[in-house]
Amino acid sequence: MHIVVCVKAVPSSTEVKMDPVTHTIVRDGRESVVNPFDAAALEVALAIKDERAAAGEGCRVSVLSMGIPATEALLRDGIARGASDALLLSDRAFAGADTLATSYALSCGIRELGSAGMGDAAASGASEQRAAAPGSAAPGTPEGRAAAPGSAAPGAPEHGESAPGSSLPDLILCGKMAVDGDTAQIGPELAGLFDMPCVTDVRELVAIERGRVTVRHATDAGIELVEVPLPAVLTVAKDIAQPRMPSIAGVRAAAGVPVAVLSAACVQADPARSGLAGSPTQVVRSFVPERSDTCEVLEGSVPQQAARIIALAEEAGL
Ligand code: FAD
Repeated sequence: MHIVVCVKAVPSSTEVKMDPVTHTIVRDGRESVVNPFDAAALEVALAIKDERAAAGEGCRVSVLSMGIPATEALLRDGIARGASDALLLSDRAFAGADTLATSYALSCGIRELGSAGMGDAAASGASEQRAAAPGSAAPGTPEGRAAAPGSAAPGAPEHGESAPGSSLPDLILCGKMAVDGDTAQIGPELAGLFDMPCVTDVRELVAIERGRVTVRHATDAGIELVEVPLPAVLTVAKDIAQPRMPSIAGVRAAAGVPVAVLSAACVQADPARSGLAGSPTQVVRSFVPERSDTCEVLEGSVPQQAARIIALAEEAGL
């Protein structure tokens, strides 16, 4: 069984700063942590891996992120906790991505994880950082494997297809939402790209057997028990599991495992579907809402207070 856990690096503080010119979130230079929902998703995957190991069965857990080079440390932490391997997609070509371009980039990474090369690396217990042809990686990003001439976008697989020699994972786990972006769109978008069933806001993983996964998930009407065939995408709630701490042995082992860091060309990402170019969302204006703590105590009779409320509402343009 192969499980891919999508892990997003989010700012450790709740204070969000926006670039006034590009209208994107300012991330550089700020400490990042793993999105708490994704930490829970990883724990779900590791629990499945433990169960399978106890039953003498294999299970590969891959952690995947699209982010800045520093995200590598968070992925290494995932390996220290028990993940089998990790892949970081890091390239200026991915910058400015909206959710559509982000899920597309992640889908390219998922296909790469299922490719023969990545599978072999995981089987041998080590992932790899591939050598790039000179000039193939974006400035300031880690170098990755260069795409063979003509092997990029045009030949990239369409929805629901695996690249030649590549196999899709049995399970893709995402957090229900990222605490900074907050759209909760990535999981369902990945399911759409791969034509897989998707269950959102999963609160309990009940069973995985006979090629099906059974879960309890939250809906507006309450908790629902559903069973879907594998491969599938699940997005999980934060309290589905308590993330384990990395063991000392795990930290030591992870220190020696290179995290694969690949560029857009390495994963055959279509430039027209990546980053700002592949983002149909137009941010017209972004701002942090101003909060005012002023309070007025209304005096006088009830009609006088009512008149004052109306005046205040009119002043506020309501
Ligand atoms: P959600 O859909 O809420 O996340 C759900 C789950 O998806 C997560 O729990 C996680 O499992 C997975 N996931 C989400 N993102 C990632 C990831 N990167 N790697 C791995 N797993 C992930 N953000 C920037 O950092 N830089 C930019 O320049 C930038 N430009 C933007 C431009 C536009 C026009 C827009 C609309 C957004 C931009 N963003 C940018 C925000 C970025 O698009 C979102 O953060 C991203 O698409 C994920 O959406 P979300 O945070 O709402 O994730």
